[in-house]
Amino acid sequence: MSLKFISVFLVWWLTKAEYVLAIDTYTIGAVFHEDSNEIETAFKCAVKRFNTFNNAIFFKTVIRHVPKENPFAVYEAVCKMLDENKGFAALFGPPSTSVADVVDSIASKIELPNMQMQSPSSLWPEDSSNLYTINVHPNLRNLQKGIAKTVESLQWKTYAILYQDRDSIIRLQEVMKLSSIGKESVLLKKLEPPDYRLVLKEVKRLGYAHIIIDYDSTYLMEILQQAKELGMLEYLYNYFLTSLDAHTLDFNQLDCIANITTITITDTNSKLTYGFAKECSLGRIIPTNSTDIPTTLVKHEPSLMWDAANFFMNAFHELHLTNHQVVRKLTCDGEERGIHSFGLANYMKIRPIPNTITGKINFENDHRSTLTLQVVEIMQGRLRKTAYWSAADPESVTVVRTEKEQQELIDLYIKNTTFVVSSRIGQPYLMYKKPEDPDEVLEGNDAFEGFSMDIIDHIAKMLNFSYKFVLTKNNKYGSFDKEKKTWDGLIKDILDRKAHLAICDLTITQERRSAVDFSLPFMTLGISILYTKPKPQERDIFAFMNPLDIVVWMYILAAYVSITLVMFFLTRLAPGDWENPNPNDPNPEELENIWDLKNASWLILGSTMSQGCDILPKGISSRMGISMWWFLILIISSSYTANLSAFLTTSRMGPTIDNAESLAKQNKIKYGVLNGGSTMAFFKNSNFSTYQRMWAQMSQAKPSVFVNDNAEGVKRVKTTKNQLYAFLMESSSIEYETERDCELKQVGGRLDNKGYGIAMPVNAPFRGSINSCILKMQEDGTLRGFKEKWWKQMHGGGACKNEPEASSSDMKLALDNIGGVFVVVFFGVAIACILALAEFFWNVHTISVEERKSHKEVTMNEFKFFLSVWKTKKRNYKASKSHGSLSNMTDSITIKSKSNGSLQPKED
Ligand code: ASP
Repeated sequence: MSLKFISVFLVWWLTKAEYVLAIDTYTIGAVFHEDSNEIETAFKCAVKRFNTFNNAIFFKTVIRHVPKENPFAVYEAVCKMLDENKGFAALFGPPSTSVADVVDSIASKIELPNMQMQSPSSLWPEDSSNLYTINVHPNLRNLQKGIAKTVESLQWKTYAILYQDRDSIIRLQEVMKLSSIGKESVLLKKLEPPDYRLVLKEVKRLGYAHIIIDYDSTYLMEILQQAKELGMLEYLYNYFLTSLDAHTLDFNQLDCIANITTITITDTNSKLTYGFAKECSLGRIIPTNSTDIPTTLVKHEPSLMWDAANFFMNAFHELHLTNHQVVRKLTCDGEERGIHSFGLANYMKIRPIPNTITGKINFENDHRSTLTLQVVEIMQGRLRKTAYWSAADPESVTVVRTEKEQQELIDLYIKNTTFVVSSRIGQPYLMYKKPEDPDEVLEGNDAFEGFSMDIIDHIAKMLNFSYKFVLTKNNKYGSFDKEKKTWDGLIKDILDRKAHLAICDLTITQERRSAVDFSLPFMTLGISILYTKPKPQERDIFAFMNPLDIVVWMYILAAYVSITLVMFFLTRLAPGDWENPNPNDPNPEELENIWDLKNASWLILGSTMSQGCDILPKGISSRMGISMWWFLILIISSSYTANLSAFLTTSRMGPTIDNAESLAKQNKIKYGVLNGGSTMAFFKNSNFSTYQRMWAQMSQAKPSVFVNDNAEGVKRVKTTKNQLYAFLMESSSIEYETERDCELKQVGGRLDNKGYGIAMPVNAPFRGSINSCILKMQEDGTLRGFKEKWWKQMHGGGACKNEPEASSSDMKLALDNIGGVFVVVFFGVAIACILALAEFFWNVHTISVEERKSHKEVTMNEFKFFLSVWKTKKRNYKASKSHGSLSNMTDSITIKSKSNGSLQPKED
């Protein structure tokens, strides 16, 4: 206790009794503003510390408070201070850039060292150096470079730069250069107080998730608060705050999960910083769990003031030891000049100081040439030094976080996050689950099932995170609207930060990859053609008529009638066709012509049916006539026979296509793709002529051949009449459909090779972890198992396993194809029967008239005879009648004997 008392007394005594001891006392003047308390505290604290531990010199301080924006008041205050004091070893301040040059000009005029620490700006050009001014603030060029290199190390492809004023633009000049070389899209916007929402909303609308903010740290909390209101502090929004004091803000207040990176010039984990913060009660000290020193959140200006004061006092002391420093009264009129000031200022500029809290201080061309920027990341409220940039090695940013630490952080992030997974309904990737109890309403993840869900569930178990499935708007995959420059569907959800992950049958494409990142593919596939298997065509029992057009049939009929008439007349003209009716009479009185209309038509019909006829014309002209008909029939029947088999086969098989080439070559079968998907993009952007032709056909087709989802495409393939629609679909989905619907088949191979991947924001920290899970799932067969489950087992999978392939037996002609022939025969025979009945009753009528018997009696007699099938001989009633009446015998009844034994009465 007494020891402590003695030491406290000693300290007091050393500080207060400087005049008692023979210590050289010097006065330092300092100019501050009303609101620069922390800088003033750092100054006083540094002087006090120096006086405590130094017994050769004692520094007294004279402090004046000046307004920030009134140079004249500053001038007056400084002059008054000079007047009222015996002399100053140096002047410190002021902190504000706007009035710094007032003090600078006075100091320069009276040759008095002026220690400054304000940030370099256009108002403080670097080439305007003042011999007596020593600014310990890092120089502008280094700061520009350091910021740009840090931005580069973040590897952001697109970002928005939100700035405060002209000075911000100057500070970010090197960043702008970065953006102009090779960066795809950089948005530059001024943030106007007090409502920053307008600009922030635009940034959000344009899908920027990487944002650089160059703003005074005083306003940063308000800006971030407004960003939070707009949902812009959600996960995977990334901010880079260029303010050197941003790290001192309490981000826990924001409760944000966005990733925030910033830079400091004070090493937050250094012992020196800790000592300074503790001794001067400045900044915030965050204790760490480890034995390391705590993180010290101290602003850069007090730190610079601390360094500047120590720098000056030590240098002065060192010079004083060799050459007693003389200080005299100086006034603003400039009659007197500092005596040792020149030497002192020069000495300071060549004397490097290693032990400072803002890093090594070195001067080159009157400006501080050294700068070390500490890159600090605030992730979920935790502050971590991740890298540093040093002016000594300006081209690189040195990462200080080990990969293990990095992974630990990512694991922690994954563990504490509920992943929002955006998806779309589409079999079998994600489907609504049917509740076991029909009254039950399923909610959340329980409402869905499918291949995608199984994958995410497995990954979630491996990485130990929770997840929530949400459906994307309009069930779209994600396509880019070149005019509006916006994405839709799942890709938009990722860009809008509505979801951490997006999964479905989402194809990895170069265009999508430029907006989002993808995991390794969990399935490989290619575009192919979905089509129906050959279907039985519509019933056409008269298909045998198809080989000849109806017009040809009509012509044949007309020709038949005409030739019959022609033959009838020709044979009457031709003498050769008038024959001796009685071969026993060489000189008959009459000649007979057998070519009546009935015989003529029978001859033509017989030759038409290739059956020939036992009576043939004998005249030259009639023979000529009939041979012309035979010629016609020869050609027609050979053409018919040749065409018949082809017609019957093709009409049963329907239209056929083998591959994309054959699809492209024809235009009977229409084909289409899913609207707005990668398949559509494939055809649209293809350089291959076949696919270009296909795209031209598809885009011009009316009605549209595009569908809104695969299910619609499948339905269209199945329901379009005569198989006149084919759907270009991804092979994995084709496989799913053909497993269940045996009517469908895949035609041809794959047109390309690609994969489905899980989409996530660019540079998502969890990408590596998800990739490892997918690799593991591939290696241990989990993915194959899921595929087997959802393709072949669930929801009717495997239904077409035993479906026989179309075989040659399917090619046999069925009744449906040639049934018409039987119909014709049936009707023909029926007509023959009707004719027979007609002939029968006519005969009955004749007999009853001739024999004067009743119709009934004759009918009964004739019918009885008809039924007596064993009787082969019949009474010729005409002959019996002629026996009775011989006069009639010489009548002109001619019985012509036919070779086939039939009897044909011939009446003249
Ligand atoms: N899987 C495709 C996509 O991601 C959909 C398609 O075009 O078939 O866009």
